[in-house]
Amino acid sequence: MGEIRPQPGILDIELYQGGKASVEGVSNVVKLSSNENPFGPSPAAQEAVRRVLHEMHRYPSTDHAALRAAIAEVHGLAFSRIVCGVGSDEIIHFLCQAYAGPGDEVVHTEHGFGMYKISARAAGATPVEVREKERVTDVDALLAACTERTKLVFIANPNNPTGTMIGLAEIERLAEGLPPQAILVLDGAYAEFVEGYDGGARLVDGRDNVVMTRTFSKLYGLGGMRVGWGYGPQEIIDVLNRIRGPFNLSIPALAAAEASIRDIDFVERCRSENTRLRTWLAEALMEHGVPSDTSCANFILARFADRDEAEACDLFLQREGLIVRRVAGYNLPAALRITVGDEASCRRVAHVIGRFKAGER
Ligand code: PMP
Repeated sequence: MGEIRPQPGILDIELYQGGKASVEGVSNVVKLSSNENPFGPSPAAQEAVRRVLHEMHRYPSTDHAALRAAIAEVHGLAFSRIVCGVGSDEIIHFLCQAYAGPGDEVVHTEHGFGMYKISARAAGATPVEVREKERVTDVDALLAACTERTKLVFIANPNNPTGTMIGLAEIERLAEGLPPQAILVLDGAYAEFVEGYDGGARLVDGRDNVVMTRTFSKLYGLGGMRVGWGYGPQEIIDVLNRIRGPFNLSIPALAAAEASIRDIDFVERCRSENTRLRTWLAEALMEHGVPSDTSCANFILARFADRDEAEACDLFLQREGLIVRRVAGYNLPAALRITVGDEASCRRVAHVIGRFKAGER
């Protein structure tokens, strides 16, 4: 193997750790570790998948025209400036592949989503981590980190795993202040949880250096189908389409996503239940002495005294059949990220954390 080596940077990639789905020896587990929709996929999406099963021998659409038309209609966007990917992960990957290479820098926030670093390194570029201000994206720090080598700046708004978000005026200030060769990527994986927030779409419309990414994995409950999309300036979208595999999305995935985005009632119900239960859970945990920042997404970041306490609480929750997410890999060792589940799961989490804080082990 002596001469066979991957490209520089690849061996620096730390493997992405997904949320655990089971605990050995514990049954009746509730998975609250991947920010999935506790209400499942929309019934309309399930029906749409059943309807296309007989077409499995066919290749899927290469241009995703039906899904893009649905996205354009629902969000009021330009059809030609939408690109679809295998989750928004793939759009992040395309952006790094197309715009960053050896010698280039990809800027991301301290507690930012893990794929930014992975995709940057996979493209041979160097990830640059920028501190946040009390777990909130710091525009001044991001601007100060940019150099003539910066090609991409990633921020998630709301951010995962902190749940915090910044206002559009701040985002615009960031876009305005970037060096001319840099693209701002506004990751809106959790944008749908914020009533009235367009994920930055209007900002994209007004500028040539902003791309927005979105997903069907969270509010739409289609994590297993792997559908995401990007919206950006025509030139950038045309570039991403050049490197996109022609059949990247499967027939069932396309059908499920199109049906979901049109199932407005389901989406509204999921959003309002999330908001109600998120508030309830944050308050219940606070009463047990576990604070969290105000979350704008479908999870909360529960903060403990230190790493030992967070890990002990995680183990206690696991023994009780509740799987949450450790976020030490996101520079948050004293915290646990808890997806807002359905009402019964939220009550169970609050009850078990209450017992833990009362000294039970
Ligand atoms: N961005 C953020 C901030 C995320 O949390 C996630 C999922 N964990 C993604 C992007 C990617 O999601 P998907 O590939 O499922 O669209």
